[in-house]
Amino acid sequence: MKRREFIEKTAASSALLGLGVSLSSFGNTNIKQLTVLHTNDVHSYIDPFPADHPRNANMGGVERRASLIESIKKENPNVLLLDAGDIFQGTPYFNYYGGELEFKLMSMMQYDASTIGNHDFDNGIEGLHAQLPHAKFDFISANYDFKNTVMDGFVKPYKIFNKNGIKVGVFGLGIALEGLVNKGMYKETVYNDPVETAQDMVRILKKENKCDIVICLSHLGYKYRDDETKICDLRLAELTQDIDLIIGGHTHTFLDKPTISKNLIGKEVLVNQVGCYGINLGRIDFYLDNDKAKAFEGKSIIV
Ligand SMILES: [Zn+2]
Repeated sequence: MKRREFIEKTAASSALLGLGVSLSSFGNTNIKQLTVLHTNDVHSYIDPFPADHPRNANMGGVERRASLIESIKKENPNVLLLDAGDIFQGTPYFNYYGGELEFKLMSMMQYDASTIGNHDFDNGIEGLHAQLPHAKFDFISANYDFKNTVMDGFVKPYKIFNKNGIKVGVFGLGIALEGLVNKGMYKETVYNDPVETAQDMVRILKKENKCDIVICLSHLGYKYRDDETKICDLRLAELTQDIDLIIGGHTHTFLDKPTISKNLIGKEVLVNQVGCYGINLGRIDFYLDNDKAKAFEGKSIIV
């Protein structure tokens, strides 16, 4: 996209916000765009809500999500499609097929990666492992150590994507399973501190691999009003640096647009979450110029 076209396009959208840069700082160069689409806590919702549902009538459903993703990809092929976990549990589809259908449909929609939520252990770690052959996308978690479990070797801490010359590092973080999931379900999965893990990840992704954009796929939860000290996405944003975007899950928080938080060194971090059940699809567009200065716009699209 040329600068003029970029300005015209973005001027039309009042939702454009700067990530520490103003639009005028963009040079007269080609601007690269990356579109990040995301879901969380879909919980086996495959069909849309029924027409007589009091709040979500006719909303959601895999079919409409798939065509929405397809139409976005037609207008911009540089798309990353991510999920922040809790793919499983919530409708009879999970009870009957154990997650096979969820993974097959996500593969058809060409998801690039997902992290693991607490409910993804609901058929035990063996139940999750058994469905992996149906997933053509990567599972990413940096703070769950699966070494002594059947999942060993099937989960990556992070993945680096190259989209349109933009290097995007994505790492995953899961919630503490103790007290939330029966130990018999997650077995010898070891939970490591998410903040320390995130610091390791940004060192690898930003410092060593020089990623242009670093994304954390988190199932930690957006915020906990009853416990300010509990780690959540907003606190993770404050306690770390070099993360551009945290895509969250777990608390089923509906945000219309990403929250702009400040990190450890005062730089802006986006934190987003799109509720649950596939009702919304998150969309964040990053724009990078040749000097890799960034701008973005983000919104939640009703499916
Ligand atoms: Zn959930």
